[in-house]
Amino acid sequence: MERTLAIETVKAVGKEVKLQGWVNTRRDHGKIMFLDLRDRSGIVQLVSTKDLADARAEDVIEVVGLVKERPASMVNPKIETGTVEVEIKSIAIISKARELPFPIDTDGYDINEEIRMKYRYLDIRRSRMTRNLRVRSKVTTFIRNYLTVLDFVEVETPMLTKTTPEGARDFIVPSRLQKGKFYALPQSPQQYKQLLMVAGLERYFQIVRCFRDEDPRKDRAYGEFTQLDMEMSFVTQNDILSLIELMFTKLVGEIFPEKHISQSPWPRIPHKEAMATYGTDKPDIRKDKNDPNELAFSWTIDFPLFTEQSEEDFYHGSGAAKFAPSHHMFTSPHPDDIGLLDTDPMKVRGLQHDLVLNGYEVGGGSIRIHEREVQEKVFDLIGFSEKQKSQFEHMLTAFTYGVPPHGGIAPGIDRLVMSILGEPTIREVMAFPASSSGQTSVMDAPSDATPEQLKELGITVISKKKL
Ligand code: ASP
Repeated sequence: MERTLAIETVKAVGKEVKLQGWVNTRRDHGKIMFLDLRDRSGIVQLVSTKDLADARAEDVIEVVGLVKERPASMVNPKIETGTVEVEIKSIAIISKARELPFPIDTDGYDINEEIRMKYRYLDIRRSRMTRNLRVRSKVTTFIRNYLTVLDFVEVETPMLTKTTPEGARDFIVPSRLQKGKFYALPQSPQQYKQLLMVAGLERYFQIVRCFRDEDPRKDRAYGEFTQLDMEMSFVTQNDILSLIELMFTKLVGEIFPEKHISQSPWPRIPHKEAMATYGTDKPDIRKDKNDPNELAFSWTIDFPLFTEQSEEDFYHGSGAAKFAPSHHMFTSPHPDDIGLLDTDPMKVRGLQHDLVLNGYEVGGGSIRIHEREVQEKVFDLIGFSEKQKSQFEHMLTAFTYGVPPHGGIAPGIDRLVMSILGEPTIREVMAFPASSSGQTSVMDAPSDATPEQLKELGITVISKKKL
């Protein structure tokens, strides 16, 4: 017999069906016993007058039974299959479940996060988490379809690569073949996507993992996150902003019909004005902050190209220069301000654009520099040594072979889904995030390497005591 899903039972009244899933709940009422069976489609009530002593919550079972319409007084409007129940003919326990370490029939917010992460595969059984992962999948599928129709090409770029300057600390990976040398995991595919523009693709996207060794915050997970990375040639900043605005407006309409976008077109707020009016470059411009269905998108534009360099900007340059890129070092200066690069760099505006949703920065991008001389000047201003410059020689070389003007953006998928769903942290929309202390869920990395692995890599670990 073919398997029937819980949701399909409503259309199978009078038929015998085979169901497979988990025991969601069990209720004993003397001579009659109820089990709710849960599968990926939902829940259906099973009923039996026989003793089902062995079937306990979270056991995996297979049931053959007769679908019956419930009498009107017994209809449960709270579940989609509330008009029917399945009379059990036979039941087999496929896999027993131990008692779970925490309840999964609640929203789970009040459960210790480390325990939730340790047993994430159980935590995901709760309906809120299952919904979040399904919604996220719908979002990425929508984006893929939308952009593919617009002639964008999805390209995968390397994960084992060289440092990419997004301003954070890199994760490094030792090389076995070249002992003493290291790869860096990409902070973003920034350089590759620009090289793909030189390659003539014109329209690129990738739903891609990025790695940054930064301290976690509620809108930032430790270690890795996913972004929709995009790049386009022969575009203006307005083209990029309009495309994103249209795509996300359609996405919200299709996937989140209960939500409303409070202002359209999305306001484009110059950085200076945002700071003066809201005291932040990511203003929360919702009309009613108590309304969970309001989505207030806005753009912040006209950022200064540079900020004063601080200790933390060590990763950008030598530390000797005064200027740090406010976005990253490939962002183009505003064409009207090019002259100021020599005279008053802090006054130069950049062609940067940040996407803000309900007070969260959910994406950033820019029109890029495509002239070798301007790129070199920016490297100088941020205090790159000749050695550091040589690390980017491939970009400067590429720019000598006919480079189209280009620009892009990278909305964060986790942040976007978190903000739309109104989830309190980014980890609530990730399947297996690292905990806030940097331990990976379930697998509990980082962990020790064996002496053999270290030997092969030519690495000696200094014991903690000596550090
Ligand atoms: N690479 C940038 C980032 O990850 C985004 C961009 O400029 O397109 O923030």
